[in-house]
Amino acid sequence: MDNTKTKASLLLIYTGGTIGMKQDPTDLTLKPFNFGQILEEVPELAKFAYRIDSCSFDPIIDSSDIEPSSWQALARLIYGRYDDYDGFIVLHGTDTMSYSASALSFMLEGLTKPVIFTGSQLPIGVPRTDGKENLISAVEIAAEKDGEGHARVPEVCICFDNMLMRGNRTTKVHADNFRAFRSENCPPLAEAGIHIRYNDALIRKPADWNRRPALHTELDTRVSILKIHPGITPQVVQDILCGSDTRAVILETYGSGNAPSKPWFLDLIRRAADMGKILLNVTQCLAGSVDMDIYANGKALKEAGVESGFDSTTESALGKLFCLMGETPDNAEVKKLMRLNLRGEISK
Ligand code: ASP
Repeated sequence: MDNTKTKASLLLIYTGGTIGMKQDPTDLTLKPFNFGQILEEVPELAKFAYRIDSCSFDPIIDSSDIEPSSWQALARLIYGRYDDYDGFIVLHGTDTMSYSASALSFMLEGLTKPVIFTGSQLPIGVPRTDGKENLISAVEIAAEKDGEGHARVPEVCICFDNMLMRGNRTTKVHADNFRAFRSENCPPLAEAGIHIRYNDALIRKPADWNRRPALHTELDTRVSILKIHPGITPQVVQDILCGSDTRAVILETYGSGNAPSKPWFLDLIRRAADMGKILLNVTQCLAGSVDMDIYANGKALKEAGVESGFDSTTESALGKLFCLMGETPDNAEVKKLMRLNLRGEISK
């Protein structure tokens, strides 16, 4: 527990988002501030006696502008500085934080150190900000070691509102509440109260603590998302399922993986499957899992060539597909790997 003994060294990577803004006293607008001054803004961090270096994306971005190229830059940055630090904290806008944390979890394989994403709903320069608490908890968790001197949480996580969640299990669920993220299908990895209580049994450990992680930066982004809804038209379904630039489609279905059983719909599914596309079934529900054996409508999807995404979030399915498709042109191989639990992203 006594991290001051180990003098942990951490790298704080600022990508943008609300957390790094401060009210300009002259025109009262929110503006990004220089993160070189982070210790001045959050003097509490100095009490940890960690070495905290910081670096910033240039330009910093609202996370709604995040792109796969940003994930590649982030993954390369962490990989390139991996040996210099005990842990990494990524300050990121909340809007796409779950997408980024999911993608990074697949791009960095075999982590032996924490990569903790955090941000805030209110800027750090505002008196009632949630940013300081989020950042302080993220820093403490990123530096935490177990009894053998290994990182306590060698995973890509999101630390928000006193909860540490596996990044690829999260979804942003609230636009303005401090509890902005949920991880409904996986309990928190830690909860910060008076003490930070770790759920050690759930935290994933690398096969070999002495091996550097493998870096996967080749991403194939030819994935579309089809959200099923009453009234969806054949033309829309055809455009998304059978588009020539789409290699995989995530179907966001109802409940335990159901969709319309109308002949035109199933015909289009079969057509896309015959074209060799990867069709992945993920539920629109916040919690629970796809099971295409429960209802006739689900079974019809399975028989038409749709793969189960189990209890994956859409964000995680997207990052996993990008990454696996970037590794191989073989769709059968991608489908096989999609069924496996690679980074704790599905309950299997
Ligand atoms: N639009 C902001 C972003 O995601 C919101 C936030 O940071 O909370 O960058």
